[in-house]
Amino acid sequence: MTQPFEDLFAFLRFPSVSTDSRHADDVRACADWLLAKLADLGLATELHETPKHPVVVARNTHLPDRRTVLIYGHYDVQPVDPLHLWTSDPFQPEIRDGRIWARGATDNKGQMLAHVLGVEQTLRENGELPVNLIFLFEGEEEIGSPNLAAFLHQQRDALRCDVVAVSDTGMVAPGVPTLGYGLRGILCCDAILRGPKCDLHSGLFGGAVANPAAAAARLLASLHFTDGRVAIDGFYNSVRPLEDWERQMWSEVPGVSDADFLQVTGSPSLFGEPGYSSAERVWARPTAEVNGIGGGYQGEGSKTVLPAEAFIKLSFRLVPDQSPLDIMQQVTRHLVSHCPPGVTVEVRPGHDGKPYLTDPNSKFGLAAQAALRTAFHAEPVLIREGGSVPIVQTFREILGADTLLLGLALADAQIHAPNENFPVENFEAGIRLNQALLNELAR
Ligand SMILES: [Zn+2]
Repeated sequence: MTQPFEDLFAFLRFPSVSTDSRHADDVRACADWLLAKLADLGLATELHETPKHPVVVARNTHLPDRRTVLIYGHYDVQPVDPLHLWTSDPFQPEIRDGRIWARGATDNKGQMLAHVLGVEQTLRENGELPVNLIFLFEGEEEIGSPNLAAFLHQQRDALRCDVVAVSDTGMVAPGVPTLGYGLRGILCCDAILRGPKCDLHSGLFGGAVANPAAAAARLLASLHFTDGRVAIDGFYNSVRPLEDWERQMWSEVPGVSDADFLQVTGSPSLFGEPGYSSAERVWARPTAEVNGIGGGYQGEGSKTVLPAEAFIKLSFRLVPDQSPLDIMQQVTRHLVSHCPPGVTVEVRPGHDGKPYLTDPNSKFGLAAQAALRTAFHAEPVLIREGGSVPIVQTFREILGADTLLLGLALADAQIHAPNENFPVENFEAGIRLNQALLNELAR
């Protein structure tokens, strides 16, 4: 096995599961391994403690009159359960069918280490890098980066940069290099509907008092018009319309046609806001989604109960220029004003993150496109993503730099799921991508 694969396998063997305190020592050992690898390249390294898992920073010697590029990634991974569904041990990486199989292979160790090994390759070939480089690797991404914003604030001068690059998003299809220039934001909340003071016999009391579970269903039904549009007052007020060139461009992106969405999801038919393709709905339109609903009897057979309460769990994907704070107020107002009679509703805000949009044809965007072209020998496509990476907006706010999203993840990478994998060719392309990117950004 060649050195890049030995390095990747060593990195993947650490069970650096950030959410599980039983793995705290493994997360730490993984950070230490990474630190040693970066020091081996001759970079100046720093391990920064946080209340939980450490941040690893490395940089070359910074010279004036050179661009400063910050490359962000994360060395923590998701849990592996259910373990019995894995074909091979999630922490004993294997190569089968041209793919590397392990937890973290794609998300994010494989993509992240490709950048490190690209730098190693360039240093071996040229003795120096064309830019001032900062590597910033955290161990808490999979738990929502609870300490990263504070760290960025504290280190904002040391981390000042012209542009940020991240490889932690998707490619639309194998061999099709993909530059992301937008992300949806997110807002989560729960609501509890309460009726009688305790569960009641549905024969002795049913018909005399409101049923919180039925009320929850009616409240949820009020969130959308029947055609799929969100019915919350003011919800679309600050939504930035799609540009014509985006719609034109996306209609030609492979792998994201309506037929592809139908096939990938296995749904009986597609459904969503009228007037938009599936890709447009996912990348550039906001949503109100029901993530959970509960209350009353869930066991075998029937139980004639009138439940005392019911709950709903909601999340909203937001697009520029929606503000999570404004939307939370609109949602609260909607849930309270549409709450059916006979029950009360308590709304509890959850976590949120702002949407992100940058110009894919800015000078840095064009540099990223050129690097993708070089690395993959193919024309890159420009997309937004439906998911949320709140840290990207935080980089803009704290470091004043835009982020290039150079994703190498395939749709069937099984990230966060059993049998996570990363194509060997994407790992190798990622190494070339880093080299090309630093060259292009230096121009
Ligand atoms: Zn992840």
